[in-house]
Order: sequence, then structure tokens, then C-alpha cells
Amino acid sequence: MRNVLDFAYDAQPMRVVFRPGAALTATPAEAERLGLHRVLVLSGARGADTARAVADALGEACAGVHAEARMHVPVDVADRAVERARTLGADGCVAVGGGSAVGLGKAIALRTGLPLIAVPSTYAGSEMTPVWGLTENGVKRTGRDPAVLPRSVVYDPELTLELPVPLTVTSGINAIAHSVEALYAPDTSPLIALMAEEGVRAMAGALPRLAVEPASSEARSRALYGAWLSGSCLGGTTMGLHHKLCHVLGGAFGLPHAETHTVVLPYALAYNAPAAPDAAAAVARALDAGDAPRALWDLGRRLDAPRSLAELGLKEGDLATAAAQAVSQEYANPRPVAEEGVLALLRAAYEGTPPA
Ligand code: NAD
Repeated sequence: MRNVLDFAYDAQPMRVVFRPGAALTATPAEAERLGLHRVLVLSGARGADTARAVADALGEACAGVHAEARMHVPVDVADRAVERARTLGADGCVAVGGGSAVGLGKAIALRTGLPLIAVPSTYAGSEMTPVWGLTENGVKRTGRDPAVLPRSVVYDPELTLELPVPLTVTSGINAIAHSVEALYAPDTSPLIALMAEEGVRAMAGALPRLAVEPASSEARSRALYGAWLSGSCLGGTTMGLHHKLCHVLGGAFGLPHAETHTVVLPYALAYNAPAAPDAAAAVARALDAGDAPRALWDLGRRLDAPRSLAELGLKEGDLATAAAQAVSQEYANPRPVAEEGVLALLRAAYEGTPPA
């Protein structure tokens, strides 16, 4: 945080309900509050059973279940979902699942203006942002539009009880990455800084417990609480080099979303820390450690997370292309983004050596 108080903060106009069991007990009430009588429930194939349970809880207020969400919202998937919503005469959507299901709900909202209720089952954080994404011919377009921000978010830790440990770990560190970049974002603010530090603390505290006791309700609640805070940070600020690199690695080289965030984060923070010492200090406090990048790297290792970009399938020959792509557009970052420095960052992440 800057020493002099000088900031702008946009509160996102949404309601959050957080409670064990809320997916079934609170979603119908949220639909009613919004005056919705014919919602389309969305999910991915794997989340279909949960989506059906939510649909049953909605009863008459549910127009149907559409369990066809896919990663990165392919345009044809969005087209079919919009068509289904129109055919059924839906007056809103309820997205049950991770970033892919929420992303499909946002795509429908973008095209039709239908209000969205999000019931997240991972820690990705999309439910707290007005950012949409659509993928066509292998290229992902993203944009910000207030129309896609969920009107209501129902956090139910019970939905995450069976999230497999590897996905719990990488999705959790994906959330931590939002908080880390929010701390040094050009549009950070005192409230964002509070949420970000607490978000890192809650998530980093919960993950080691979940690695040994994945069904712990208390640790699941802490992790989801951390995800909410980190998602709020993502929605309220402009992300920097770390998110840009992960976008390039996912988009151009097909690397998996949460795993890539997990591998890259310690190196991105090591790159930025000299230019953002207060942010690095906040992360270190939250991790109860001296050196924030090293502590993040250690956390990943302790949790048996993927260690290197090589392990995720990147080829050594791709490093230079990735670095060139990451510096090809201007974006906010505390330290100037120079190709040589980014290439060194990527090489370290490729090899999985400790962050310098
Ligand atoms: P996802 O929704 O594809 O879920 C990952 C996997 O986990 C899927 O196979 C899914 O079936 C499974 N899964 C989800 N919840 C589960 C549960 N509770 N138990 C067991 N399995 C479960 O991916 P994600 O990591 O949640 O989100 C990543 C996507 O979201 C990316 O496309 C990313 O770009 C997008 N995203 C967008 C924003 C935004 O603001 N627009 C923010 C974050 C992420």
C-alpha cells in the first residue's frame, strides 16, 4: 500500500450469502428476492448431480438444467446455452460449479441481459467479477461488463467437500494469486489490501489442513472464505504480469489454468517484489514468513503441487515465444515488464528452481 492515502474504490453491487448448506437452502430465496420464476440451472457434466439437486430445491422456479459448461466458454457452447435459455423462456440463470459454469452464466448474461446467481464450487473467483471470457478458434476474448456480474453469490462450503486435493490446492493458490496481484495493482485501495492479506492468510492456512483432511467442514469454510476475499480483489482491481503470463501460457500453449497459476506465482512475485515491497511484506505477514516468494514456493511443495512449467507440458523452445507474447501489450505492473527479465522468470518457472 502507498503511504499517502489516495485511492478510488468501486463497491460491486452484489449480494453474498455464505453458509454451509446454502446451495440448497438459500438459492431459492435468492431467486425469489430477484423476482425470478423460471431460472435455467447451469453446470458442467461433472457437476450435473449437484445442479439437479439445486434445481429440485428451486422447484417451480426452475425451468431446466443445462449441464454443458466447458472450460474457457467455447462460443458454440455459449450459443447453445443462450438458445436453450430462450426456448425455455428463462428469466434468469443459476450457475453451479467452478469458473467454467459461472463463465457460461456470464456469457448468457452478456447476450441476453438475464440476471445470474452464482453458486461456486471451486476457489477460482469468477463469481465476484464483471469479467467475461469467450473462446473462438482457439482465441479467448475477455471483457468487462457490469451486466455479467452475478446479482447474488451463494457460497456453500459443503459443495467443496469432495473437491479432490490436487484441485483444491491449485484452485486455492489460483485464488491467492488474485490477492497477491491486487496488493500491487494500480487501483488497489485500503479495503482491497485488507481483503487481500486476509484472503491469503485464510487460504494458506486452510490448504495444509485440507491436504490431510479434505472433508473438514471448518477448513473448507476457511478456504472458501479466502476464495471470496480473493475473488473480490480480482473483481476490484487490475491484474498484472502474473495473470498476463498465465493467460498467455493457457491461451497459446494450452496449459491448465489453476496449475499454471500455482507454478508461476512465486516467480512472478519474486520479479515484482523489489518494486512492490509493501505488497510483498503483506503476503509475507499473511504466510507468517520472512520471504514471500520463497514461502509461496515452499507452500506449493509442501502441498505436492505441480513444480514446474516443464511438468505441465511446456516445451523449452516455447519459453522465448511466451516471453515475447507477454511483453507484446502494455499493461499495469509495478516493475517494468522487459523481455529479458520475463524470459528469466519463465525459465526459472520452467525448471522449478527456487525463486531468486
Ligand atoms: P472449472 O470450472 O473448469 O473446474 C475445474 C474442474 O473441477 C472441472 O473438471 C470441474 O468439473 C471440477 N469441479 C468443479 N467443482 C468441483 C467440486 N466441487 N468437486 C469436484 N470437482 C469439481 O475451472 P475453475 O478452475 O473453477 O475455473 C477456471 C476457469 O474460470 C477458466 O476458464 C478461467 O479463465 C475462468 N475464470 C474466470 C474469471 C473471471 O473473472 N472471468 C476468474 C477466474 C477464473
